Amino acid sequence: MREPDVLILGGGPAGLTAAIYAARAKLAVTLLETVTAGGQLRDTVAIENYPGFQSVTGEELAGRMAEQAKRLGAEIIGFSPVLSVSLAAGVKTVQTKKASYRPKAVIIATGAVPKKLPIPNEAKFAGRGIHYCATCDGALYENSVVGVVGGGNSALEEALFLTNFASKVIMIRRRGYFNGAASTFEAVMNHPKIEVLFHRDLLDVSGGDSVESALVVDTRTGEKTGIALSAVFGYIGTEPKTALFRRDIALDEQGYILTDETLRTNVPGVFAAGDVRVKAVRQITTAVADGTVAALNAEKYIKQGQNMAGA
Ligand SMILES: Cc1cc2nc3c(=O)[nH]c(=O)nc-3n(C[C@H](O)[C@H](O)[C@H](O)COP(=O)(O)OP(=O)(O)OC[C@H]3O[C@@H](n4cnc5c(N)ncnc54)[C@H](O)[C@@H]3O)c2cc1C
Repeated sequence: MREPDVLILGGGPAGLTAAIYAARAKLAVTLLETVTAGGQLRDTVAIENYPGFQSVTGEELAGRMAEQAKRLGAEIIGFSPVLSVSLAAGVKTVQTKKASYRPKAVIIATGAVPKKLPIPNEAKFAGRGIHYCATCDGALYENSVVGVVGGGNSALEEALFLTNFASKVIMIRRRGYFNGAASTFEAVMNHPKIEVLFHRDLLDVSGGDSVESALVVDTRTGEKTGIALSAVFGYIGTEPKTALFRRDIALDEQGYILTDETLRTNVPGVFAAGDVRVKAVRQITTAVADGTVAALNAEKYIKQGQNMAGA
C-alpha cells in the first residue's frame, strides 16, 4: 500500500499543473496516467493561445509540464490506468493493476474524450474513415478528400491541419456560423483547399472496407446529398471520463464532476480539476488554473488536519 500525500488521477495539463504546485508545497505527490503525460495535448498539433508561446505543439508543451513536475519531485507513473476507487469513506483507496494507494487527498483530473459522431455506421468505420484525431490519423489521407464535422475551435484548427495532407477538406457545419476564434475562422474561410458547407448535418457514411462517401442533409430544406470522400473527422465536443467515480462523487446529468470554487467535490479531501468538472470554458489555460486551485486547496486540506468538509 503506497501512501502519498496527494494522488493525482490523470496527466493532462490540469493534473500536471496540480503536480507542480503540490510538489512545490513539499507534499509527496504521485500522478497516475493511463498512457503518457499530456492528455488531449497529445492530439493537438499547434497551440496558439497558450500565453508565452506564439505557437507550440501539444507534445512540446506537455513534455515541458511533465519535466517541470518531475524536477520538483512529483512521481509520474505512466501506463497505469486507475481501475477502481473507493473515495466516499474516510479512507480513500485507489487501485491500478500494479499497486494500491491510500492518499491523504485525491485530485481527479481524468479529463474528457471526443464525443463519437452520432451516425449509424460510426462503429463499422471507426478507424477506417471515422476519426477524432487529425494529428494521429491525418497522414493516412494524403491527396484524399476528407470531411470535418464540428463548429468550434478544434474543428477549425484540425481542418487547417488536415490541409497538409488532404487534397480537399470539406467542413460540415450544422449552423450558419462557427464558434471558434475569429482569426482561425478567417484562415479557414480563405484557405484554397477548404470548402465550408454551412447548414449541413452528417447523416451517415458508407463504403466497402473504408469510408467512400458521406450523406449530408441541408438543415433548412431537408434536401439530402451524397459527397465522395475518404474520411470524416469528428469534433463535436467531449464527454467526461468519470465512470469510475459515479458511485462516490456527485456528477451533473452529463457526467461532469460538481465542485465549488475551491474545486472541492462532495467528498472531503477529493478535488476535481480541468475538463472533467462542470465549467463553462474547457481550454488548456482553464485546466492549468484548475490544477493550481485544486493543489493549493489539497495542501490546505492536508495541513489543516483533514477536517475541511466536502462541497
Ligand atoms: C484536437 C484538440 C485541439 C485542442 N486545441 C486546443 C487549443 O489550441 N488551445 C486550448 O487551450 N485547448 C485546446 N484543446 C482543449 C484542451 O486540450 C483541453 O481543454 C485540456 O487538455 C484539458 O486538460 P485536462 O488535464 O483537464 O484533461 P485531458 O487533457 O483530457 O487529460 C486527462 C488525462 O487523464 C488521463 N486519464 C483518464 N482516465 C484515467 C484513468 N482511469 N487513470 C489514469 N489516467 C486517466 C487521460 O489519459 C489523459 O491523459 C484542444 C483539444 C483537442 C481534443
